[in-house]
Amino acid sequence: VECDGGVLLPGWVDSHTHAVFGRWRVEEFVLRTQGADYGEILRRGGGILASVADVRARSEDELMACARPRLLALLAWGTTTAEVKSGYGLRWEDERKLLRVIARLDAELPLDLVPTFLGAHAVPSEFADRPDAYVDLVVEEMLPAVAAEGLARFCDVFVEPGAFTPAQGRRVLEAARRWGLGLKLHADEFVHSGGAELAAELGAISADHLGAVSDEGIAALARAGVVATLLPLTLFALGQRRYAPARALLDAGVEVALATDFNPGTAPCPAMPWVLAAACAQMGMHPREAIRAATAGGAAALGLGDGRGTLRPGAPADLVLWPVESVDALPYHLGAVMPRAIWKRGARVAPDWLSAFGPCPSLEG
Ligand SMILES: [Zn+2]
Repeated sequence: VECDGGVLLPGWVDSHTHAVFGRWRVEEFVLRTQGADYGEILRRGGGILASVADVRARSEDELMACARPRLLALLAWGTTTAEVKSGYGLRWEDERKLLRVIARLDAELPLDLVPTFLGAHAVPSEFADRPDAYVDLVVEEMLPAVAAEGLARFCDVFVEPGAFTPAQGRRVLEAARRWGLGLKLHADEFVHSGGAELAAELGAISADHLGAVSDEGIAALARAGVVATLLPLTLFALGQRRYAPARALLDAGVEVALATDFNPGTAPCPAMPWVLAAACAQMGMHPREAIRAATAGGAAALGLGDGRGTLRPGAPADLVLWPVESVDALPYHLGAVMPRAIWKRGARVAPDWLSAFGPCPSLEG
């Protein structure tokens, strides 16, 4: 709704984040400026595994204190519903800790959080030589515990060389389906390994990343009605020149979602307006396609059928007033715009996010 003094939109539905973690990983950003690539940093014990070591050393309350201002920063840039994944624990006690933090912050904060179990995010160092034994642990111990405690709505797997093979991903996701969880995949992020095809075959609700999806993968997503969740900030941060083929996906009739991938390694940015700017400037999306993808598209990627991500009678009154001259002007300003006002379920909120980018607060004061 274009109105006097601004544009009123539904709140963003950010359908892919890793927003609960410990310390930031600024040092890896610096290494990448000097030429180190993602795989090299991971092999040197950095990347996801650095966050795993950090999360394992922290208490649940300390992770609450780290995550709270960061989630409020998502809200400050207009996100009123966010999916959040585990995946920095990689053993049950720590995966459980992350999922409990997501549940507690969902109850505490004025934005809705949708929890996803991502036990198969990386192979932890203690299983480095026997990844199939780690998959056994995820399937036989973690997934039953996730289901028993009702701690997640979705199960996700990172299918990519260096993470998990399509066969391993299939084992995890078929088990997750038996436990009643919805299915998501990190698929074809850097190389085509058949992740999109696997998502289509298993009836996943979304396939995410897709920087290297094949034409066959696009056709399979369209036929199966899988939402394509695109995460351009990650490829931007990694210095990639090639983005996911948003135009081909849209033209094939695939529902597209845009999300931040907010995480301490490759997307330490909670600002959805920046994602929309990248989608329009680099991926050929029309501003209105990008706005749909960041609202109703995100809701589709999370299976939220309550009208979320739309402005219509009966939908949750999650509203954001943007101080821009038109809908199309929002991505035009390349992310440098913040909401004038935010309402969550009809109640005005004014999130305090100013400590989001500092070091993790110390509980000792
Ligand atoms: Zn991710």
